Amino acid sequence: MGSFDTIVSLCKQRGFVFQSSEIYGGIGGFWDYGPLGVELKNNIKQSWWRRVVQMRDDVVGLDASIIMNPQTWVASGHVEEFTDPLVDCKQCKKRFRADAIVNNTCPECGAVGQFTDVRRFNLMFKTYVGPVEESAALTYLRPETAQGIFVNFQNILVAMRKKLPFGIAQIGKAFRNEITPGDFIFRDREFEQMEIEYFVKPGTDDYWHQHWVEERLRWYIEDLGLRKEKVRARALPKQDLAHYSKATFEIEYDFPGKGWAEIEGVANRTDYDLKRHAQHSGRDLTYFDEEAKEHYIPYVIEPSCGVDRIFLVVLLDAYHEEEVRGEKRVVLKLKPQLAPIKVAVFPLLRNRPEIVQKAKEIAATLRKHFTVWYDDTAAIGRLYRRQDEIGTPYCITVDVQSLTDNAVTIRDRDTMLQERVPIGQVTAVLKEKLAQC
Ligand code: ATP
Repeated sequence: MGSFDTIVSLCKQRGFVFQSSEIYGGIGGFWDYGPLGVELKNNIKQSWWRRVVQMRDDVVGLDASIIMNPQTWVASGHVEEFTDPLVDCKQCKKRFRADAIVNNTCPECGAVGQFTDVRRFNLMFKTYVGPVEESAALTYLRPETAQGIFVNFQNILVAMRKKLPFGIAQIGKAFRNEITPGDFIFRDREFEQMEIEYFVKPGTDDYWHQHWVEERLRWYIEDLGLRKEKVRARALPKQDLAHYSKATFEIEYDFPGKGWAEIEGVANRTDYDLKRHAQHSGRDLTYFDEEAKEHYIPYVIEPSCGVDRIFLVVLLDAYHEEEVRGEKRVVLKLKPQLAPIKVAVFPLLRNRPEIVQKAKEIAATLRKHFTVWYDDTAAIGRLYRRQDEIGTPYCITVDVQSLTDNAVTIRDRDTMLQERVPIGQVTAVLKEKLAQC
């Protein structure tokens, strides 16, 4: 298990995550994903999409726009309700979420009882559509992807001829002007969400709520490979429920130095959203149940998680330090499916053109099937360490003997064992190994 500090530094040094606009001093709550980060992030999203959309016949996908008609946010309750309590310290002028203040002491300057009255602060980013900045053109960057799904409920119902229960899944950016972003990419102002709205017949909602909590836990443990004892589902007490929720389970991870914190919410949103959109749009958003011969507004179960927060968890969980022959070895024991690079190819001797040539040919062949990294910029021991640190499951080395026996070694990241494989079989062997993981 890594600490926040080790992961932040690894992310920067190895090209996973950089501070946004760093050369200008950065900007709080915004981050850029580097060459390895974008691969890992895509793999996390792909794993989710595969599990909740492609492997099921009752969930379909959507990619809705980020900016929507502003009435959406009036109907959803966000204009009125999506606020955090805010206080200013009169002494140092810093702003805080009121619920983060302990014993009336300022976390910045230590002043006691020097806070302004609590004000409600709306977390939505405002923007203007069109060439004039006037109130008629005011709209928002979406603070969640869910509303894009609700407003498309009828479109999808009709176009896809779906019957209840069925779900709509979406991955996309969301924006919240968080008062105190922090803990690296745990709380950002721009982040990505993966959300499902699963529409069910009222009365069956408790059953489906339980189903989704279990299903989501399985994804974290089986597909992402997180340690079982570090993930749990917790029912929220009634007083902590959002305005639209009948019941919510939080899926939490046990963060180093931070303790249990939410990575996903699985909420029973009842018929709140569809009802509100029906009222505000004047459209009929009921579902006709052919069996029961009745119209009703479905209930909704919503599993909602953040890609960036899960990205952080995946790295923290995969980080290992070991001692190998008296030296520290850092290894990311990522599930191979998540690893940014699946296979690295090295020539053992970089000053032997025939070896370099062969290694490059092998890399080119493998690139048709896997993400490949070719490297001849250091000695072999260091090249292995670099790949361990970014979680590459397999390394291939071309040596002098390869020129005569037409075989190479494949080294396993976790066991560090090496096996000799004929070059013609390398693709098939790697495919089999990766399929077994
Ligand atoms: P929190 O209590 O941490 O503020 P929330 O309850 O407001 O989160 P939801 O609205 O339930 O969060 O959002 C669902 C998921 O989206 C969260 O579980 C989290 O993974 C992710 N998420 C929410 N806000 C942020 C953020 N500011 N930065 C990164 N991820 C976020």
